[in-house]
This record gives sequence, C-alpha cells and structure tokens, in this order.
Amino acid sequence: MVVISEVSVTEEFPDIVFSYGYSDEYSFVLKKTTRFYQRRASKIQSLVVSFLTSVYVTKWKEFFHDKELRYPPSFRARVICCASIEVLQAYLSWRQNDCHINNQHATCFHELVKHGKTEKEAQQYLKESGKKEKHDLLFEQFGINYEKLPVMVRQGSCILKTETEDIVKYNESGAPVKRLRRKTSTVHSKNIVGKSFWNLYPKLLKELGGFVDDIRKIEPDYIRSFLWEAKLLPSTWIVIRIDGCHFHRFSTLHEFVKPNDERALNLMNSCAVGLLEEFQDLVFAYGVSDEYSFIMKKDSQLYQRQASDIVTAVVSLFTSLYVTKWRDFFPHKELKYPPSFDGRAVCYPSSEILTDYLAWRQVDCHINNQYNTCFWELVKSGKSKIEAQNILKGTQTPEKNELLKQFGISDYNTLPVMFRQGSSVFWDKEDITPEHENGTCNGTYRKKVVVEHCNIIEPDFWNSHPSILNLKP
Ligand code: ATP
Ligand code: ATP
Ligand code: MG
Ligand code: MG
Repeated sequence: MVVISEVSVTEEFPDIVFSYGYSDEYSFVLKKTTRFYQRRASKIQSLVVSFLTSVYVTKWKEFFHDKELRYPPSFRARVICCASIEVLQAYLSWRQNDCHINNQHATCFHELVKHGKTEKEAQQYLKESGKKEKHDLLFEQFGINYEKLPVMVRQGSCILKTETEDIVKYNESGAPVKRLRRKTSTVHSKNIVGKSFWNLYPKLLKELGGFVDDIRKIEPDYIRSFLWEAKLLPSTWIVIRIDGCHFHRFSTLHEFVKPNDERALNLMNSCAVGLLEEFQDLVFAYGVSDEYSFIMKKDSQLYQRQASDIVTAVVSLFTSLYVTKWRDFFPHKELKYPPSFDGRAVCYPSSEILTDYLAWRQVDCHINNQYNTCFWELVKSGKSKIEAQNILKGTQTPEKNELLKQFGISDYNTLPVMFRQGSSVFWDKEDITPEHENGTCNGTYRKKVVVEHCNIIEPDFWNSHPSILNLKP
C-alpha cells in the first residue's frame, strides 16, 4: 500500500531519484544538485509529506476494499543532508538494518502471542534474545524459515527511476527509431547499499554517486548526529502557516466559484477545526483563501519544539482531513488529483507582535478580496483577464468601490463577512444549559471549537477573548 503512494511521490517530484521504505516509513533521496524550492527544507519536507498523505488517503479504497478509513492518518517528515555518498550509504544501511531488526522482532512477537504468551511475556522474552536466537526461535518453535518470508517485508522496498531505450518504429530504410523512456520501478534487494546492487543503476551513479566499498556495521549514533535540528526558540508563539500548492490550478480544475467558493472555504475551516481538536497546544487559527495560520501556545513542548516535526504533522493532518472531508463539501465533484499544502513555522516573541502578524494576514485578505471581486466582475461583464488586470492596475480603494457600484454592489461591506474578514477558529464556551426553565440559567458550559468571521485587527476581539492568548486583563 505505502509503496504505491511512494511511487506516486517519486513520479510527482522529478528530483527524487531513489526511495527506500518499509512499515510506515519512507526515505526519499533527492539528487545533489536539486534546486527544488531553492532547497528550502521546510518547503521540501512539507510538500512531500502533504502529497504522500493525500495519495495515501485517496488510494486507500483501492487496497482496502471493505475497510473504511476510521480516522485521517498523518505522517511526519524531516530533511537530512548527506554531504557525501558515504554518509548516504551509511544512512540507507541504517534504515535497512532497522527494517530487518523490526521485522524479525515483530514476526517473533506475533508468533509468541499467537501461541499463548501474553504481550508482556513476549516482550520480555525477546528483549533478551539476539538476531540468531530469534531466527532459531522462529524455525524451531514455529516452523518458520525466516528467509522464506515475503521479500518485501524482510528487505523493504526501493523505488528507482530507470531509463530504457525503446524501439518505437522502423524508418523507411529499416533502421530502428529509438526513444528514451523513463520508468519507475519497485525492486527489493537484500543489501541496498552493496556495490553490486547500487552500481547497477546508471541513474543512481550519475545523480548520487557510486559506492566504492561495501560497508559493514554502522553505529546508529553516528547517523543520528546527522538528524540534528535546532529547536524553535523557547517561550515564543509558534505560527505554522500552510498554503495550498498551485491552488490557482486546483481551483480552476475543480470549478471553484470565483472569486470566493463558499464550499471550499468551509472545507478549509472544517479541517482547521479538526486540527485544533487534535493538537491541544493550538490555541487559534486564521484562514483565508488556500492558507491557514495556526498559533501554537508559547510554552508548548510538542515534539520538543522541533520545527520539522511540528510543521509536517500539522500539514499532513490538514491534508488528510481535506481529502477525507472533500465529499462532505463537494458531494457531486470528484477530486481530480491529490491536493497538497506547504508549510513553515515562524516564532513571534510577544503577543503584540503575534496580533500584528494576524492583522497583516487579515489586511491581506481584505486587499485580495477587494481586488478579486472587482477582477471577476470585470471578467463576468465580458472583459478578458488581461483587460481586467490592466483596468485595475494602480487603482486604490475609492476607485475600486466606484467600479463595484457599476456592477450593482453599492457597498463592499454587504458582501459575506467570511469573504471580507476570513475565518477565525478557536476554543470557546458554548452554553449547553437545558432549555431555560423559569427563565434562569444555571450556567452549564462545554468547550467547543468555533469558526467566526471577526475583525481581528482591532484589539477589541482579543480583549473580549483574553483566554485565547492568555492576556492579562
Ligand atoms: P510514531 O508516531 O512515533 O512513529 P508509530 O505507532 O507510527 O509511532 P512506529 O515505530 O513508526 O510507531 O511503528 C509503526 C507501527 O505500525 C509498527 O509497529 C507496525 O505494527 C505498524 N505497521 C506499519 N506498517 C504496517 C504493515 N504494513 N502491516 C502491519 N503493521 C504495520
Ligand atoms: P502557490 O503554490 O505558490 O501557493 P497558488 O496557485 O496556490 O500558488 P496562491 O497565491 O496561494 O497561489 O493563491 C491561491 C489561489 O487559489 C487563488 O488564486 C485563488 O484563485 C484560488 N482559491 C483558493 N481558495 C479559493 C476559493 N475558496 N474560491 C475560489 N478560489 C480559490
Ligand atoms: Mg497557494
Ligand atoms: Mg495562498
């Protein structure tokens, strides 16, 4: 299953030349010279994880025909730079060794439990045994020859891009006309970092380099030292902003109503609600168009404040929700391809600066919406997109308001508030007092994530909801 999603990822991102995975993990190797998103780690890891999640959810039904996806799955990711081919070799060797250890352990554990041991007993038993003992245990007690288990579970899967020369036709003189064809294939190998495997593939040699020696034992600590990442500054607000990837195209292909498709905005809002419900440390979210900013509380210790884990977990769950909820908002529209989002994290040291940030997003919403409303009115009236652009070039608010009047919108402020002010998502108290008997209220409340379309530029909002940012009265 995962392998299929990975093949899609490999095909979507041309700079991925090799991938290796097993169980619920995958490593994608980009070529050394990649200029993908200017090599910005945050973009690369969020886009890859988002696209993978999207494909996983979209393709679920193809593999689990009679099983519903009970909740939206999500993944985390991080970028690791391997400065030399030797480090890449050691990294891959470490992952394949892990695949072997985990699979051998899981197979023994499963058999022990199946044959009457409790999970605790099985764990204890395995803790004290090495590779050889496990191998013998499987063979002697359960009649399982480990080497005969399916190759994919023992060795993991590699996805490679190969180029083959196909003969497409013969010309008049009978000579073959050849064309280079790129193919993605999934292969398994006992030793993916062995020279005899790796050096077989010209594309790997060209894009990543060849292996000079075979390697033996790798110290996991050596590899872990390459996973180092600075933590986000403590005691600062963390803003994770996600944005739809190529949503201009996505919205056109899915025939979003222009300039504002209410269903699409409600879908985004519903996903944001899901995020606040899942991550207790998210205290507020603000969304407009294809973007959402999530505010994580200052003292959050989620994933030890590692940016890559935080950003990718948020982006992945958001994508997963977007795909699973699509049908609820677009019941008559098929998803034509798996959508994805990018993400980044920025720290803000004070609540003043944080509210300035949010005000900036809301001002942006206002400016864009005003522009887009004028633009689409002009287009609807028969102007070409270029003409509409030229008419609007350099215009200020009063001129735009004048223009809207011509199209029967006498007051911009009468447009739906969600379009003008975006959406704010936060935990609020909901009065669940049973029908007010004899007019009294006994004040029974339940906390609930709400979606509102308020003015967050003015301090009034924050002052009337002091608990969101924990502001002192
Ligand atoms: P974390 O969020 O920290 O990664 P996790 O529950 O995902 O926690 P992992 O160490 O990543 O833990 O292990 C993945 C688990 O998922 C394995 O223990 C295995 O039981 C299960 N799993 C993944 N893929 C498969 C599969 N194809 N078949 C059966 N079980 C699987
Ligand atoms: P990038 O990958 O760089 O983000 P993009 O195509 O997603 O490129 P954005 O600047 O993020 O560009 O703009 C989002 C686009 O998505 C807008 O052009 C807008 O037309 C469209 N869009 C997003 N949400 C909606 C919606 N609810 N209704 C109509 N159009 C929408
Ligand atoms: Mg976008
Ligand atoms: Mg955008």
